[in-house]
Amino acid sequence: MSGEGGGGPHGGGEAPRGGSAGNGGPGARRRRIVAGNWKMHLLGAAAAAYCAELRRGLAAADGSALTPASPDPGAGVQVVLFPSFPLIPAVVRDLAGSEVEVGGQDLHPAERGAHTGDVSAPQLADAGCRWALCGHSERRRDHGESDELIARKLAAAARHGLTPVLCVGETREQREAGETFAVLERQLRTGLASHPAAAGAAVALAAGTAAALVVVAYEPVWAIGTGLTASPETAQEAHDFLRRGICSATGVAAGGVTLLYGGSVTPANAAGLIAQPDVDGFLVGGASLDPGQFLAIIACSG
Ligand code: PEP
Repeated sequence: MSGEGGGGPHGGGEAPRGGSAGNGGPGARRRRIVAGNWKMHLLGAAAAAYCAELRRGLAAADGSALTPASPDPGAGVQVVLFPSFPLIPAVVRDLAGSEVEVGGQDLHPAERGAHTGDVSAPQLADAGCRWALCGHSERRRDHGESDELIARKLAAAARHGLTPVLCVGETREQREAGETFAVLERQLRTGLASHPAAAGAAVALAAGTAAALVVVAYEPVWAIGTGLTASPETAQEAHDFLRRGICSATGVAAGGVTLLYGGSVTPANAAGLIAQPDVDGFLVGGASLDPGQFLAIIACSG
């Protein structure tokens, strides 16, 4: 898939840029994505006001931050919001006609059934979602989600046309014990095992499509919500490792796969991170709750 980038289920189509394993030619770039994870924040009125401000801010930027508005398909940024479940229909409505897409923060691997409190991939898609977070560290921590369960969620999302964002990352203890790469390897390999892009199925997919079917977010747990951010060099080292890992886990070159960094991203540190060859965008928690900060991160990610 190297060099083809990804058309994917909804948009994209860019070729890889710089960086490591399986990358495309010099000068080409991968699809950039800035995603806001609202977690369990915001009520309806605040979400509506937020969407209005986001739309105003993006329009004031003359659409230049948005992928489809650019004459160069490799330019611009795909913006995605992950509201909590009850807010999704209203946010989808409020953002209709914009280029901002919406996703679910979690999903159940089954399509339907007796799973009180859970939400399925078909329900997310029916509500207008095009994305799904899989394996966010807060789900791993609060709900004991295993890599195997996350793999089933990821496969369910992909089956129903949602682009999964697989979240991986080490804890502070794991980093200090020198286990970072072993943790990333395990989370990545197991998480992608059932994905259509994994070895075997990959041959049935157009090469570029396989790249766009998954996004991976490197989110060191010690950086999430703590105000501590990975240095650009630390993020690049992990992203380079992950890109190589995706290549060996899925059997396809990973040069077209968008890799996001997450962990206390702010307008102040985003530019240094996005300058790294394997950092293709951000998954933003706290700073995404302020439309001004979120817009500033989008602006410096294009
Ligand atoms: C997140 O929730 O994925 C996240 C990275 O949060 P924060 O930006 O607040 O660290």
